[in-house]
Amino acid sequence: FTCDLIRNFSIIAHIDHGKSTLADRLLELTGTIKKKEIGKNEQVLDKLKVERERGITVKAQTASMMHPFGGKQHILNLIDTPGHVDFAWEVSRSLAACQGALLLVDASQGVQAQTISVFHIAQERGLKIIPVLNKIDLPAAQPERIAAQMQSTFGIDPEDIIQISAKTGRGVDQVLQAIIDRIPPPKGTATGPLKAFLFDSMYDRYRGVISLVAIQDGILKKGDRIASCHTKKKYEITDIGVLNPEEIPVNGLHPGQVGYIACNMKESAEAHIGDTLYRVGAVVDPMPGFKPAKAMVYAGIFPIDTSDFPKLEESIKRLALTDRSVTIQRESSTALGQGCRLGFLGTLHMDVFRQRLEDEHDANIIITAPTVPYKIVYKDREVYVSNPTEFPDAIDVSSKVKEVQEPVVKASIIVPEEYFGDMMDLCFTHRAEELEHKYLDAGTGTESRIMLNCVIPLSEIVTDFFDQLKSRSSGFASFDYEEAGYKPSNLVKMVFLLNGKPVDALALIVHRSHEDAIGKLWVKKLVKVIPRQMFEVPIQAAVGKKIIARETLSAYRADVTAGLYGGHVERKMKVLERQKEGKARMKRMGSVDMPQEAFFEIMSSK
Ligand code: GDP
Ligand code: MG
Repeated sequence: FTCDLIRNFSIIAHIDHGKSTLADRLLELTGTIKKKEIGKNEQVLDKLKVERERGITVKAQTASMMHPFGGKQHILNLIDTPGHVDFAWEVSRSLAACQGALLLVDASQGVQAQTISVFHIAQERGLKIIPVLNKIDLPAAQPERIAAQMQSTFGIDPEDIIQISAKTGRGVDQVLQAIIDRIPPPKGTATGPLKAFLFDSMYDRYRGVISLVAIQDGILKKGDRIASCHTKKKYEITDIGVLNPEEIPVNGLHPGQVGYIACNMKESAEAHIGDTLYRVGAVVDPMPGFKPAKAMVYAGIFPIDTSDFPKLEESIKRLALTDRSVTIQRESSTALGQGCRLGFLGTLHMDVFRQRLEDEHDANIIITAPTVPYKIVYKDREVYVSNPTEFPDAIDVSSKVKEVQEPVVKASIIVPEEYFGDMMDLCFTHRAEELEHKYLDAGTGTESRIMLNCVIPLSEIVTDFFDQLKSRSSGFASFDYEEAGYKPSNLVKMVFLLNGKPVDALALIVHRSHEDAIGKLWVKKLVKVIPRQMFEVPIQAAVGKKIIARETLSAYRADVTAGLYGGHVERKMKVLERQKEGKARMKRMGSVDMPQEAFFEIMSSK
């Protein structure tokens, strides 16, 4: 084993530009997997059902390939990265195990928002970047124009760009050659003290946590006793091997190699992405770049049938074992009963988790409106609040709260020029500031595309922003963002009252400028989903003591007899009689019956 014969690389691209398809072609070309029928659309590296359905990669998957070059077998380690902004930190982690990256761009779509963000991540990490234009088989492909775009956006020499079709396989052999020619081999020595970089992990029901590691120095073998730089916890290697892409056990992993280890880690949280593992007893400096994932979007999850809570909590915990970036807390609500408050990296992450709960654990759940972590600044301290029920009711001179801040992000949108006005409008209605724009390819007339940058509150993009961006640009806009700290903001807590009583699970934190619109929208939604009661029910939205919006749910009466024919007088009388009794009883209780199903409807309606 020598490092010279190893190449560690990743494929980075905007979603749908062909990363998984190219990965499959590389695995086939190197004989790692058997060739499949062309056109069959099932990618080897995308494993979860939700990934196949949504066409996104959620968990990074890695594979090692062998390929002869110059008479010698080389090892090519492909480190697959997830393909969505929510998982940007995972992309960054995975790239830390590579020396090079294939920057893949769809020749019919051109440079998109995530092309730019992943390019920057790779560049910051000092990786050798191999530019690749994909889908040149498409009639709409414009390789020259997109090559010029890559030159103006990234300073890439068009001569360096490899043109391929990952679908038909054309040009893929050149990619393989370029990986060997252009990407430097990893550096490391077999004799140095062991250093293994942990860049990904997955969960196995029988063996616990399986970690993926890239060996920097030393040789790691089964039975070795290792420790984590981050937690100082000690483990023994019980299982070690490479991914082809199935697991193949090996005797040892050498410097530059990438593989999996099992070492009796019970929980995913123990496998810190970016951690350095070393031999027990040795002293090593951790490798740089450790930053834990941070939850940016929170939501409450409740069972539709309140008696299902123990089962739901168990399912959530089981699922979280496989997804270390979810945070869990218990939460109880007067309206919805016992539930959990979960923290996610973003709304897609939340959606994926919800879908996996439903698909893999058969859970029937209500998920509340997402909330970002707000910062409440008191005279003497700061508190983060990610649940509307904990948000102060009133923020004025009399309260101890000095200021409320909200997280903001730097967003970039890439869009054809004709949609520019619509995008500006979308940004303004979502409280964007510091808007700037520039042309991506100047001088190409009607096909010009514009990159729009702005600072926008995270809360504005966790709701309908992405859907609106897509619909208002006919699907042509692409979007990406990165965290940009906190900014003071005029935020208020909005509560909804049914018959004068607040419903805790419906509380929202909204910007003052949106309170009227949101208040009206939600009372309208509520009046539609809440079943009629025996008495008239006012539905109100309130901020502090002020009522913002009101609708009235009329009494049940008209409905009960609606289905009865004129002739059935006796029955009709009976129904009205019963209704009167009921009315008296309900009035005494004074409460409104809002079934869990109504919550489900309101939370899942857009
Ligand atoms: P990813 O999101 O980057 O992993 O993209 P995929 O590999 O899943 O590809 C997205 C879509 O583009 C799929 O429908 C692929 O079949 C298709 N695709 C990928 N490469 C090519 C190509 O070279 N030519 C054509 N025509 N389609 C391609
Ligand atoms: Mg994919």
